[in-house]
Amino acid sequence: MIRRIFDDEHEMFRDSVRSFMQKEIRPHSDRWQEQGIVDREAFLKAGEQGLLLMWADEQYGGAGVSDFRYEQILIEENAHFGDAGFFMTLHSRLVGPYIGELATEEQKQRWLPKCISGEHVLAVAITEPGAGSDVAGIRTHAADKGDHYLLNGSKTYISNGINADLVVVVARTNQEKRHGLSLFVVERGMDGFERGRNLKKMGLKSQDTAELFFNNVKVPKENLLGEFDRGFYHLMHFLAEERLLGAVGYLANAEAALNVTMDYVQERKAFGQTVADFQNTRFKLADMRTGIDVTQAFVDQCVLEHNAGTLSADDAAKAKLYTSELEGRVTDECVQLHGGAGFMDEYPVCRMYLNARVSRIYAGSSEVMREIIARSMGLDPRKNKPRSANQ
Ligand SMILES: Cc1cc2nc3c(=O)[nH]c(=O)nc-3n(C[C@H](O)[C@H](O)[C@H](O)COP(=O)(O)OP(=O)(O)OC[C@H]3O[C@@H](n4cnc5c(N)ncnc54)[C@H](O)[C@@H]3O)c2cc1C
Repeated sequence: MIRRIFDDEHEMFRDSVRSFMQKEIRPHSDRWQEQGIVDREAFLKAGEQGLLLMWADEQYGGAGVSDFRYEQILIEENAHFGDAGFFMTLHSRLVGPYIGELATEEQKQRWLPKCISGEHVLAVAITEPGAGSDVAGIRTHAADKGDHYLLNGSKTYISNGINADLVVVVARTNQEKRHGLSLFVVERGMDGFERGRNLKKMGLKSQDTAELFFNNVKVPKENLLGEFDRGFYHLMHFLAEERLLGAVGYLANAEAALNVTMDYVQERKAFGQTVADFQNTRFKLADMRTGIDVTQAFVDQCVLEHNAGTLSADDAAKAKLYTSELEGRVTDECVQLHGGAGFMDEYPVCRMYLNARVSRIYAGSSEVMREIIARSMGLDPRKNKPRSANQ
């Protein structure tokens, strides 16, 4: 189906992003996979092309382009021609807006230019060993010491965790209130800020997902982001966009898996015909094509709603839920249609399948998405109880 949401400028942008991905990202993919981390130069290269934090004002070095469709194109082209572990979007559109929307003018001037150039890589640290879906369990805490905050605790599963220069850390600042959290920007090199392991994972192997430790880190007062004790509400504010970012990516991953499978089954021979000649194969591919096209229409509509400022939390949750589940089904079917080759790392579909598994878990699990959607239908058994941020 022809997608009607893009105009000529978007398509020109898509062409240039595609050649960037083919030239600067994909050739390094195998090496990054082996080393467990993307080269920092990838961010610098993206910065040179003006692809980072495109929404930021020109005075900081940005392009002043907040139209989400440009980010959508970046995500799609990275899925098809880049590297799944290159979390440029997490940097630009998931963490960057925390600074863009919550920072003071002085903070923006201090941080944004280097994030836009790619000299500084961003991460957000919410999850802890004892707190994932339910952020009310966060134990990392910051005490007000007059001229600074004293930060103690640890985080885990943090994307860009090794490469990050600036980490937005969520910490408890009020023990009385369940949601008494604040956001702090912790900078590379601050005393007491240590990186733990670059965690070994099932998929997304080129992505540096790490543990972070904060031992008596003196965070200057100037590094509080947003309002003190209002961190929970700040987190909530960004959730719809985060889920939409995920949805765009998961759907593009499904499409990429379908594309490589289409090529494979038309080449591979069995019983004197191509695998594509089996009715089973054609029906499976037809089902996948249908699922992707129908879902794309919903996601594209969500993108337009988001641009108009009208994307609801439950519609974003539906997009996140449905695309991640679809990606899981599609990549599984695609491995099956590859036969033994689908189990081999040298075939792209193998990595796509492994990468897809986390889409149903992070950025709010499928179960949490279903909770949100059910509540939007008036099905809320905890009507008078407060909600936690990842919900
Ligand atoms: C590769 C990767 C990258 C990540 N990157 C980041 C990052 O950059 N920053 C960051 O802060 N975090 C990050 N995370 C953490 C991620 O957001 C959490 O793993 C996720 O929110 C789930 O939390 P959890 O792992 O503690 O699982 P749990 O919350 O312990 O969930 C366990 C199970 O219980 C279910 N469950 C939980 N609550 C409910 C409920 N209310 N109703 C029904 N079922 C429920 C879940 O769906 C799941 O099936 C990352 C995780 C991974 C794997």
